[in-house]
Amino acid sequence: AKDDGRRLYRIYDSQMDASAKAEKEIEMDLSRAIERNELSLHYQPQLDTIDNSVVGAEALARWNHPVKGLVPPYQFIPIAENCGEIIPIGQWIMETACRQAKEWQDKGLPPFRVCVNISAKQFHLSDFTQRVEDALTRSKLAPQWLELEITEGMVIADKDSIIPKLEKLSSLGVNLAIDDFGTGYSSLAYLKKFSVHQLKIDQSFIRDITEDHDDAAITDAVIRLGHSLGLTVVAEGVETEEHVQLLRQKGCDVLQGYHFSKPLPVEQFEDWIKAHNE
Ligand code: C2E
Ligand code: CA
Ligand code: CA
Ligand code: CA
Repeated sequence: AKDDGRRLYRIYDSQMDASAKAEKEIEMDLSRAIERNELSLHYQPQLDTIDNSVVGAEALARWNHPVKGLVPPYQFIPIAENCGEIIPIGQWIMETACRQAKEWQDKGLPPFRVCVNISAKQFHLSDFTQRVEDALTRSKLAPQWLELEITEGMVIADKDSIIPKLEKLSSLGVNLAIDDFGTGYSSLAYLKKFSVHQLKIDQSFIRDITEDHDDAAITDAVIRLGHSLGLTVVAEGVETEEHVQLLRQKGCDVLQGYHFSKPLPVEQFEDWIKAHNE
């Protein structure tokens, strides 16, 4: 039995080695991804529930690895967060998204907000607000067209130091959204203290909203809560016409999901917008 245990341990150990090695490799490749032009952003439209106009576009990172091909964000964002590479990558994402939004405005597209996912490591940098200002200054994008998506956990983790930061960002004029709302552990009452403008209901609640009574009830509650605090409520993961009908009926303000469009590369996104506005 003792031998078996040792053998198992060795197998486990060598598997650990393999996955640690794979992760190290990704880290190395990630550190060169920006300079090698391998990162890009796809954009997914957000539509106003009432008039169907495009009010936002979420920027979603894509990594085109020279050997592995397209690596999905869940495979590289967590690694980038662990090794710290998310700081330069996240900055590149924010600046690229701001420049893109400005370019669309200069081209004469009807303006909409660009929504950028911010990871905890980035957000907790002491000079994060300065970095946001820098991205705005360099791109010449007016702050009201930038929205930062943060998650509940980030806000709750260290709420005493976070509130002044959120207030500063809000006073710059940028919008703040709580992403994946409902999956965290925050007390809803906290929200009132934060200078947040928007709640994004997590897609796990939207998925079964037409069949699952609990999910429908939670969605209902989030929409009411959001509205009672003066926030805009966004539903993501909207995949069907039934989702649209139900969310519209519940008074949800903004919808995002495959039903309208999956995230698209820049040119295709522009084509989608033009066709949508016709
Ligand atoms: P997220 O912020 O919750 O982004 C929404 C995800 O849902 C995106 O996955 C999007 O493609 C997907 N999605 C959109 N509509 C639908 C739908 O109707 N049905 C379903 N099933 N899925 C839908 P994606 O692009 O794979 O990104 C996954 C996650 O990776 C994001 O979740 C976000 O947490 C992270 N991520 C992506 N880009 C960035 C980034 O630039 N920075 C940071 N820090 N994280 C990012
Ligand atoms: Ca998001
Ligand atoms: Ca989300
Ligand atoms: Ca998510």
